This record gives sequence, structure tokens and C-alpha cells, in this order.
Amino acid sequence: MGKAHIQIRKLTKTYGSGMALVRALDGVDLEIRAGEFTALAGPSGSGKTTLLNLIGCIASPSSGRIFFEGTDLTELTSRQKTEFRNHKIGFIFQDFNLVPVLSAYENVELPLQIKGGLSRGERDVAIREILERMGLGELLHRKPKELSGGQQQRVAIARALVKKPVLLLADEPTANLDSKTARDILELMRELNLALGTTCLFSTHDPMVMDFATRLVRLRDGQIDGGGLGE
Ligand code: ADP
Ligand code: MG
Repeated sequence: MGKAHIQIRKLTKTYGSGMALVRALDGVDLEIRAGEFTALAGPSGSGKTTLLNLIGCIASPSSGRIFFEGTDLTELTSRQKTEFRNHKIGFIFQDFNLVPVLSAYENVELPLQIKGGLSRGERDVAIREILERMGLGELLHRKPKELSGGQQQRVAIARALVKKPVLLLADEPTANLDSKTARDILELMRELNLALGTTCLFSTHDPMVMDFATRLVRLRDGQIDGGGLGE
């Protein structure tokens, strides 16, 4: 197991104020080591999405610190946060979030274009390789609406992983899939976790998904309810 590459300290996120104040996260301490395959479990409203969005620099905390490979993400400028997201993080969402007018191939190409640095030919090799690996080699030119839910989520995984992020954040990635497809998707994530060493953190409230993880962190009412600092 690698060194701790995410260290979260006293992380708090509130929404609203006065009587309407919501403590979405309330003093979270959590460490994630490089290469871990961790489920973030908790009922709806427990703060899972908020925590993933803070780690992915999609939102900013009210207080507390998030260190990633030693860098305090909460101190980055918005430009540095964008850079961090583009280079280090892959994100997978519950509802796939593919761009409807783009083909599978074009959806996977997007993050490479945003990140920059590769020629068209190099991008082509990377896109075909990852889509092949997802079992989508024959479906490159299909639009999202011409794909099943499981196939769409495979495209989303390919899109998240094509730039070889060190961290994959997945917010209830199997919630909209039947249990067989959900299992296939988890197996695929685990395979990539092992093959590429990508650290994976995925939220869920499904016991089957929790069983699949090699580490379980529980959230409850915005607080860690077990597993935050390892066993
Ligand atoms: P989960 O993903 O576990 O369902 P969330 O992180 O979405 O939980 O939400 C945690 C709490 O924060 C909930 O009480 C939710 O209603 C609240 N919350 C989340 N986002 C917002 C927002 N943008 N404005 C106000 N309250 C929010
Ligand atoms: Mg959520």
C-alpha cells in the first residue's frame, strides 16, 4: 500500500445561514492511501456528494484542509484547481453526464483536448485503447442515446480514465444500473484500479457495492462514522 495521498482535516461545509443552516460536512478527518479502492457509504443526505465535490475541487469547503500529495487544495487559486482537476482527477457521475450530441469517441476525447499536450494521433491511440478495454471497441461512433445505461457508464469511465488520473472519484456510479450491470461496472473499476494503480473513491448506499470495496468509510449526518483513518 502506498503513502497517504489524501489527508483531510476538520473538513466542514455548510449551506445557508441562520435557521436554514445545513451542515453538509461537519469536521471530517479522513486519509486515503495511494491505490486504495474505497467505498464511501452513507444514507441519502449524509454528505457523500459534498465530500467528493470538495476533494475534486468542484466546490470549496467552509473550513478545514484537504492535502493531496502534500499540497493543500484549499489554498489553490481557481486556475490551479482547474489544472489539478484536469491533470489528476477523473470523475464519474450517477447519471453518466455524457454530452448527448457527441459520440462515445468524442466524449472520451474531450478531457484530452482540455488537458492538451497530445497530438491528434496520440489522442486517437489513447481513446481507442481505453474504449477497447471497456468492451466498446465496436460502438465508438454511437451517441449516448444509442447506448444502454451500462454502456453509457462504460463510456463515462473511459472518459474519466483516458487521461490516466491518479484519483478516480465516482458519485454513486451504479445507482442507475441493474445489479448485474452494476457488478460488471465495479469489476471493471477494480480491474483498472489494479492495472493502472488508480486510487478509487466511490460513494454508495448499496450494500452490494460496499461489499465490493476493499475499504469502507461510513458517513452519517456529515460526520465520519467509522473507517476514516484506516483500521
Ligand atoms: P448525499 O450525497 O450523501 O446524499 P449531499 O452531500 O448531497 O449528501 O448533501 C448533504 C446535505 O447537504 C443534505 O442535507 C443536503 O440537503 C445538503 N445540501 C447539499 N447541497 C446543497 C446545496 N447546494 N444547498 C443547500 N443544501 C445542500
Ligand atoms: Mg449524493
